[in-house]
Formats: sequence, structure tokens, C-alpha cells
Amino acid sequence: MKQLSIIEAALVDSIDAPAMLHQVLAWAGVNSGTGNLAGLAQMADLLAHAFAALPGEVTLREPATVTALDAAGREVEKPHGRHLLLRVRPDADRRFLLTGHMDTVFPADHPFQQVSWIDGETLNGPGTADMKGGIAVMLHALMAFEQLPEAAACGYDVLINSDEETGSLSSAPLIAQLAHGKFAALTYEPSALPDGTLAHARGGSGNYSVCFSGRSAHAGRNPQDGRNALVAAADCAVRLKLMSHADLPVNPAKIDGGSANNVVPDHAVLRFNIRPRTEAAAEAFLSDFNDLLRLLEKQHEVSIHCHGGITRPPKPVDARAQALFDLVRDCGAALGQTIGWQASGGVCDGNNIAACGVPVVDTMGVRGGAIHSPDEFMIVPSLRERAALSALVLARLARGEDL
Ligand SMILES: [Zn+2]
Repeated sequence: MKQLSIIEAALVDSIDAPAMLHQVLAWAGVNSGTGNLAGLAQMADLLAHAFAALPGEVTLREPATVTALDAAGREVEKPHGRHLLLRVRPDADRRFLLTGHMDTVFPADHPFQQVSWIDGETLNGPGTADMKGGIAVMLHALMAFEQLPEAAACGYDVLINSDEETGSLSSAPLIAQLAHGKFAALTYEPSALPDGTLAHARGGSGNYSVCFSGRSAHAGRNPQDGRNALVAAADCAVRLKLMSHADLPVNPAKIDGGSANNVVPDHAVLRFNIRPRTEAAAEAFLSDFNDLLRLLEKQHEVSIHCHGGITRPPKPVDARAQALFDLVRDCGAALGQTIGWQASGGVCDGNNIAACGVPVVDTMGVRGGAIHSPDEFMIVPSLRERAALSALVLARLARGEDL
């Protein structure tokens, strides 16, 4: 472990924890559920203002077009908020990517809208841990980092997307574009455990909607002429469940379709999620699923239209990513923080960044817990703690630390 140098100690001392808390309180007071475009626009404004403290120019990027199948199987466009991008010294040789998300899982009509104090150092509130606190950590780590002379030789991009909680479908192309050519990436999801433990390897995730079109007929007069789309969808759900194994949990989640009791249903939409733990499991699934659809088309004499796919590839930890984890652990040790890690079943933008071959640690945000629930909390002293950790990691990467 390398001890803190005098310059590094000064860097850590410069972090303004009360200012961070002030920002988190203001940001958590704005509803920014992924579907609340007005709230997201307001958040983007607040963030653009806050990130103007850094060099470079803040821009808001239009979301990529995203479609979904509605209950009738029609492809409909899903509107999304704009994504915030800050580019600093884009011509530097060594560049980093820092990502966060401004959206939360709580829609505008959800009862959980207010922050409240659980005790003197624990704040309950929507998005406090996931991840408005994390955004403050990122910002203040960068503000500290910018005071170093070495910072001038490095560049970085900051992306704060508006759709992480629904899978980053409208920001995935931007994430891939920004990851390209980066030396390392840091993402500010909250720690995996309230003690600061980081998420290490992650499985992937895919979401599918499968539309089955059959032929309707009278249930009594000529059922033999009907082709039952609902039964085909149900058969598909059962067979998908049978394809499930330890490296590939499959969750058939919903079937829309059917009509009156005396009609053979000609239409159904099945939705399901998969969580491939490895790339091999993901590839095997794609091939098996394709075979299954062809079989169902034949056996049920229906036509099938499939929408969706694996949007979060599995995230194994390769040697360079492990070197980044080791660096974070060593920086923690120099700051008196014990940093461990464990595999996670969850997914995040770290999956997409790792898929571009860029080493990433994706839980650099605050310590907290109970995320995605009204019990969500942030441990307030972790704002300063984690900003110091990130600032030190950036400082040592800027100084030429290899991965
Ligand atoms: Zn999050």
C-alpha cells in the first residue's frame, strides 16, 4: 500500500462535504423517475449548473429511438429524457469515463417523494443512494482532482444518462461511443453493501417481448380452423422456464392476449427476462431460443415476431479490470477505508462499459442501501469518504498507474 502523499492529503482535505449534502438534498427533492420527462429536464438543468464547476462544456444529448411492443403487439416508440455529457480535454492521451444516472425508479405519482432523516448520519429519500449521492461523489472527486497539476495531462468524459433504471436503451449507443479509447471507467452506483463493499463480476440481462399471431375461430363451430396464439405463448413460457439453469435464470413474466371465452385467440404477447451469468450461456441461449421459436411456429402454426435482446452483457472481471479493483482497494487502504468486493446478480451501465473492453469499477458511489424501495437510505459521511476515494484513484491513474 502506498501511503498518502502530502499533495494527496491536501486533495482529500479540499472536499467540501456540506456542499455535497446540500446538492443531494436539492436533487432528491426533484422527482426524476425514468418516465417523468419534465422532472428529468429539471434534473438535467440542475446537474448542468453543478457540473459547470468543472472545465469543459456540458451538453445535453438527445436519446436514441427506443421502441417496445404494446399489449396488442404493435411496435410503439418510448420517449426518454436527454442525457448529460461533459467532455474535458478530449485530446489528452489518457482519458477516463465517469458515468452516473439522473433517473430513479420512483414515478411522479409514487408516494415516496420526500427525504427524511433516520438518524444524524442516515438520510432516507428517493434516489439518495441510487444515485444522486453518487453523482455528488463523482462531481466533488473531479473538482478535487482538477486541483492537481497532473490532471492537465488527462482527459475525461462524464455521462449522466436519464434511463439507466429501465436498461439504458436510449443511452447505450452513447455509452459505447464514449467508452471507446478510454483507459479506465468509474461508475457511481451505490456500494453493493452498506459497508462499502464493491460489486465485482456481474451477470447480464436481456428482456424480450414475443408476439404470437394465430387465427381466430368459433370455439364451438369450427375450433379446428383456429390457431391458438395464447396456447403457443403459454407453451413458449413453459419451455423457456425449462431452459433455465444456474448460468441462465429465465423468468417468463407476463402474457397479454386472448379474448372472449368462445373465441380461439389469435394474438398473445409473452414477456420474459434472462440473466446470463457468462457469455457462453448468453450465446447458447440465443441459439436455443431461435430453435424454440421455429419449433413453436411449426407445432402451433402461428407466426412469431420477437422484440428485444440482451442489452446488458455479462461482466466478467479480466486482468485489467482486476488491476483497477486492486488500485481502488489500495487507495482505500491509504485513506483508512477497507474495500472489499463480491459478485453481484444486478446489472448496470458497468456491464455495457466492460463489454467495450474498458476496465470499470461500477459501485464507486455512496454507501447506502434498500435501493428501489421507500426505505432507500444514504450514509451521509460516505459522501466525503467516497469522493476522497475516487479523487485518489483518479490522481494515481493520472500519475501513470498502469492497469
Ligand atoms: Zn442506479
